[in-house]
Amino acid sequence: GELGPEVQGLIIAHYGQQLDVEALEGEHQGTVVRCFVRANIDSLVTGDKVIWRSGKNLTGVIVARCERINLLQRPDNFGALKPVAANIDYIILVIAPEPEPHDNLIDRYLVASETTDIPAILLLNKTDLINDDNRSAIDALLARYEALGYQVVRTSAALAGNQPPPELEALVKDRTTVFVGQSGVGKSSIIQTLLPDEELRVGAVSQSTGKGIHTTTTAKLFHLPIGGDLIDSPGIREFGLWHMTPQEIEYGFREIRDLMGYCKFRNCRHAGDPGCAIDAAAEDGRLSPERKRSFHRILQAMAEQQARGLKLA
Ligand code: GDP
Ligand code: ZN
Repeated sequence: GELGPEVQGLIIAHYGQQLDVEALEGEHQGTVVRCFVRANIDSLVTGDKVIWRSGKNLTGVIVARCERINLLQRPDNFGALKPVAANIDYIILVIAPEPEPHDNLIDRYLVASETTDIPAILLLNKTDLINDDNRSAIDALLARYEALGYQVVRTSAALAGNQPPPELEALVKDRTTVFVGQSGVGKSSIIQTLLPDEELRVGAVSQSTGKGIHTTTTAKLFHLPIGGDLIDSPGIREFGLWHMTPQEIEYGFREIRDLMGYCKFRNCRHAGDPGCAIDAAAEDGRLSPERKRSFHRILQAMAEQQARGLKLA
């Protein structure tokens, strides 16, 4: 059949062999077109920019993928990494006084952020729940990450009313962001303040199918009324738990990355080994005890996961 000229588009959703592409230019600009993909293009994900040509009845064919800035991936149920979304400006890592934050989980997300080259921002939600019992622990935790150069923002989604809190608005405006973090910290609540439209909201949260083998990782892109885009899916919200090599984990800890290659022995386990650069950093305060503990816990968890994987293979 007749195809239109080649124009740029943005993938906003993914359904098996078909994708929803928003036309960024040409006669369909601003509309969403259901597209098929030429067989010779490798995997496309939400957030990818593409070149496509229009066909009949608001359909089209994608003929090329534009260059990606970055790619967020997560493991499928067999441990293989699957691409989830592309071209993200910031991972917003949500924590809260309740459920109590775990250094280890925060650090896993940060390792993933560092290794995918998508900058992370820490967002403390539920500031209304800060009290004399939990204040000093939260302040110390946030200070630790600020000292490493991570931006920290505080908000309360519950106090929002009809408008997103100003600090949240400033965080997402004119950027492409994803929200991640442990269950219960308020990700859905935050997204609802940013996407007040009922229909959009349903789309954002309706894909959760639990932990079964069919857990969907399909991500959707939403334009925010205040400007900017939000990419969301259950797969994104939990993307941090994947397996990585020890080198990637070392790289993922900013203050450890600089020490890579400086241990006396190549096979250093960084646990009391002679001439260990990481142990030395822990002793003189360049590496905090919390981050050191977290580093070793992640290394150990990854080793166990890989041992299990080997047994299965
Ligand atoms: P998610 O699992 O991360 O998506 O978290 P939800 O958005 O479902 O929120 C979990 C619970 O925390 C819900 O009961 C929310 O009403 C509540 N919540 C969300 N934001 C706030 C907040 O800023 N303050 C307080 N006190 N509760 C909040
Ligand atoms: Zn070492």
